[in-house]
Amino acid sequence: MPKLECEVRNCAFNYDRFCTKDGITVDGPASRRKRETSCHSFMSREIETLNFEFAKFGVDSDGNNEVWCDAIMCVYQQGDRCLADRIKIKVVGGFPSERRNHTQSASSVDETMCQTFEYKES
Ligand code: SF4
Ligand code: SF4
Repeated sequence: MPKLECEVRNCAFNYDRFCTKDGITVDGPASRRKRETSCHSFMSREIETLNFEFAKFGVDSDGNNEVWCDAIMCVYQQGDRCLADRIKIKVVGGFPSERRNHTQSASSVDETMCQTFEYKES
């Protein structure tokens, strides 16, 4: 079960850079690059304010989350699961060299990505 850090600050499940959801689903069956993956469990806090309030009570003390993932071209993906020790979810364009998005807020699932993705050479 990976330790999950998340920089998508406006997700309803994000609390102090941790994901308070029991488990997340990462998408990207055709992904060859980090930005082509996404966190399918993203939910905008602006829309789901009530869920955000509940999320605060669900913070796991060790920060570990179940991660289901279909990014089959990632070295860490095996049997629909992520086998990495730790992963980081970010906003697409959140890299220092790509400062398109300074706010670390996503407006949709497609604007999130798994930064830990590593392309598996076949
Ligand atoms: S974007 Fe995904 S990993 Fe981040 S807090 Fe939301 S559900 Fe959790
Ligand atoms: S590191 Fe790879 S296997 Fe793990 S969630 Fe990210 S894309 Fe999926």
